[in-house]
Amino acid sequence: MAMINRAEELLAKTVSDAVYVEKDGVGIIVSERLKREPSIVHGFATRRGGVSKPPFDTLNLGTSRNEPWDNIMENYKRLSSAFGLNFNELSLVRHEHGDNIIRLEKEDAGRGVSREQLDFCDGIVTNVPEVTLVTCHADCSGFFIYDKRTRSIGLAHAGWKGMFKRIGQKLVKRLEDEYGARPDDMIAAICPCICRECFEVEAELAESFASEFNCPDIFVRGTGEKADKGYVSLQAAAVIQLLDAGVRHENISIMDLCTVENRELFYSYRRDGHDTGSMAAFLRMV
Ligand SMILES: [Zn+2]
Repeated sequence: MAMINRAEELLAKTVSDAVYVEKDGVGIIVSERLKREPSIVHGFATRRGGVSKPPFDTLNLGTSRNEPWDNIMENYKRLSSAFGLNFNELSLVRHEHGDNIIRLEKEDAGRGVSREQLDFCDGIVTNVPEVTLVTCHADCSGFFIYDKRTRSIGLAHAGWKGMFKRIGQKLVKRLEDEYGARPDDMIAAICPCICRECFEVEAELAESFASEFNCPDIFVRGTGEKADKGYVSLQAAAVIQLLDAGVRHENISIMDLCTVENRELFYSYRRDGHDTGSMAAFLRMV
């Protein structure tokens, strides 16, 4: 029988290493662990440093909102120029809260931003430095994965559906299949997202998380009027699937910031509904 996971213990053992960095007025969150790797550039954009007007103020990087396209492109250009990315190499997932993962080649550079969209996917992998992987997030988490030995990278968007479908685990597997990468060598970081206290769902869904991840304390049950609700830790689901994929615990870190509670830094769908923007995560090799 599989070992029972304890969310509290697993999260206590996982490094939290989010740091805020600002360049040319553009703010991003980075993982200290990933930042130490000289061969990659990564970040998770905040809402600071763009040109968007309320309610999208100011660095909206989501392309599915009701905002002028020119503003969104200008925001991507500002992010690129601040953090040494090539705007024409940004390749953005076209997420559908699924678990499809696409391998990108040199000729896919720019798709979804300066060129035509990719096919629907929530995860992307590459081993070419001419492609910068980009994903969009509003409360959804995501995975950064870097394999030093094969020089390959993966990035995924993971809302609760993607998390439940183990897209992080599948991203690891895909790097193994495509590039011969080994989980043992991989470094992973988990994006900022809605925290357990803020992520209220029906108790039934919370229970299915507990059984999928073999982790009874992955959620806390509501009390009183909220007795039919549960509060699920997407971070625990993320850590467990990376461990199940074979990534070493010491190579996993969490950008432990709640998107709902940090209004100054993040857009939040749960907090603001449709009238809000999206942050973007980016990852490239140099
Ligand atoms: Zn929260």
